Amino acid sequence: MLIRSDGTESPILEEADSSVAAEQRKPAVKYGELVILGYNGFLPPGDRGRRRSKFVLYQRPTPSGVKRSKHYVVKTPHSSQAILDSKQHSISYTLSRNQAVIVEYMLDQETDMFQIGRSSESPIDFVVMDTIPGDKSGDNKVLQSTISRFACRILADRSNPKVARIYAAGFDSSRNIFLGEKATKWQEGREIDGLTTNGVLIWHPRGAFCGGEAQPGLWREVSVGGGIFSLRQSRSAQQKGEVVEDETNVLRDGTLIDLCGATLLWRSAEGLENSPTKHTLETLVDELNAGRPQCPVGLNTLVIPRKMTLSLNDSVNEKQQPYVYLNCGHVQGHHDWGQEKDSECRRCPICLEMGPVVKLCMGIEPAFYVDIGPPTFAFNPCGHMATEKTVKFWVNVPIPHGTNGFDAVCPFCATPLSGSPGYVRLIFQDNVD
Ligand SMILES: [Zn+2]
Ligand SMILES: [Zn+2]
Repeated sequence: MLIRSDGTESPILEEADSSVAAEQRKPAVKYGELVILGYNGFLPPGDRGRRRSKFVLYQRPTPSGVKRSKHYVVKTPHSSQAILDSKQHSISYTLSRNQAVIVEYMLDQETDMFQIGRSSESPIDFVVMDTIPGDKSGDNKVLQSTISRFACRILADRSNPKVARIYAAGFDSSRNIFLGEKATKWQEGREIDGLTTNGVLIWHPRGAFCGGEAQPGLWREVSVGGGIFSLRQSRSAQQKGEVVEDETNVLRDGTLIDLCGATLLWRSAEGLENSPTKHTLETLVDELNAGRPQCPVGLNTLVIPRKMTLSLNDSVNEKQQPYVYLNCGHVQGHHDWGQEKDSECRRCPICLEMGPVVKLCMGIEPAFYVDIGPPTFAFNPCGHMATEKTVKFWVNVPIPHGTNGFDAVCPFCATPLSGSPGYVRLIFQDNVD
């Protein structure tokens, strides 16, 4: 008999607290990683506790999953036994003021559960806040979040760790999920299901993420019960979309999860084995620097910083910092040549084309790479460098923006891409001697 403590001393918290500690314990099985788009390897104040830019899902020491058991109708859900019992997982679907369906959940020895949301309460393993596009060095805070406190949950199969399923909504500290009167819900046969206010959207690549040949899929909505639906008319519309029969809530390498305010990338353990490591990427930067790229104006050697921030106080000397002309791709150092009055644009001294100029910065988060190779391309307008296949993959991925609309973004900083094609091939003046 397994004795479960309440959430405050749950082993979930301890494990999620430090993926380094988890690594040192050498757990047998890694399911995969969730990486928030828009952070180049870490959160600006540093990764702390359950708030970090990525979360590694390891097999739990003991199973933590739950599965549906019985369901019944009650008049007053808030005073029903399953809701009051804080050890009992349950979902309450309010149908009217005096009728609700309660679905009880029981411990599932076959699965591990991981919960994601904005809440810092203990049932949330991975705390995710709204992502602000662009430079993260400022102290920007989102005043009104659109991410749910208990946004979604993932159940990973302990005996077949390649299978991890996602469901909308997470259990709160009392192990309840409440779908209020206004939430979209429906009953088919004996099963009841529903959607959360802003919903949880998923997007599977068509084809393998690794290799860069995948075609973009379509955004779908996943229900509380794990069903797949086409998108609603608007993000929080009352009417659910159509059932999508041939797609599932099983995460694939490269699946995107949108929580309305932050988008997560799922990388399977298997997929990550075919991806570069941070060390690989640093070595590729070193190789570019070994060619001693030169500024054609100042004739000084440029050094691509390995560091990931776009802020001014980088370790690299400002004189050595390379800049790219976004319209032509010529890489140069900082100089005043070609600056037009009252314009953000400059004339490139090599090809004389006018265009915006931006600092080059390595995309150092390995999970966003679809292949391994020299980072000879950069996103427009932010200047994050990556491989050709990686930039060409991300320009074709529409990321939900707010509650309506989609934008292709740089995965390293979440800046919406500008111009067409949204990236530039870098032209270094290197290996000159
Ligand atoms: Zn040029
Ligand atoms: Zn960027």
